[in-house]
Amino acid sequence: MLKHSWIIILGLVFALISFMLMLNNNRKNNMEYTLSIIKPDATARNLTGDINKFFTDKGLKVVAQKELTLSEEQAKNFYLEHKERPFYDGLVSYMTSGPVVVQVLAGENAIAKNREIMGATNPENAEAGTIRKEFAESLERNSVHGSDSETSAKREIEFFFDYNEITNKK
Ligand code: UDP
Ligand code: MG
Repeated sequence: MLKHSWIIILGLVFALISFMLMLNNNRKNNMEYTLSIIKPDATARNLTGDINKFFTDKGLKVVAQKELTLSEEQAKNFYLEHKERPFYDGLVSYMTSGPVVVQVLAGENAIAKNREIMGATNPENAEAGTIRKEFAESLERNSVHGSDSETSAKREIEFFFDYNEITNKK
């Protein structure tokens, strides 16, 4: 009888430890997907490879990528949140002025991590070692776009990609 109780207790302790390890893993692995765009000023200078190295060096993976030229309608819709801003028309004409590379980046906390790797919108305020500090030509021609929240990441990924175009690299 006593022997059996020990087996049960041992089983319960083991189950509890497994459960705690599982919770801890789920908390640590906050796997996210985010949309990135390498903008026309950067593609014009063939910076796609250099910019991708910033992402991969910091642990983000490129799980989908294609080069295309945005139509005016696409650029207007993509940046709809800025419709009333004074820079909207200029932004639309710049974003349609040459090819862009749209890509999905994956990794732990990918949304916030990508924003860190990109640096501040205005390259004058961007920290050393960020993409915008390194490559941006101006506040408008700032080389990269990155989703700023989970909601915008979902909208922006779906704006450019079908589900089956995204690989699942581990
Ligand atoms: N932009 C601009 N003038 C401004 C603010 C933004 O030309 O005063 C451009 C710039 O290319 C920027 C984009 O509009 O990346 C979108 O602006 P947002 O504030 O969303 O910055 P982001 O999220 O790209 O850092
Ligand atoms: Mg933005």
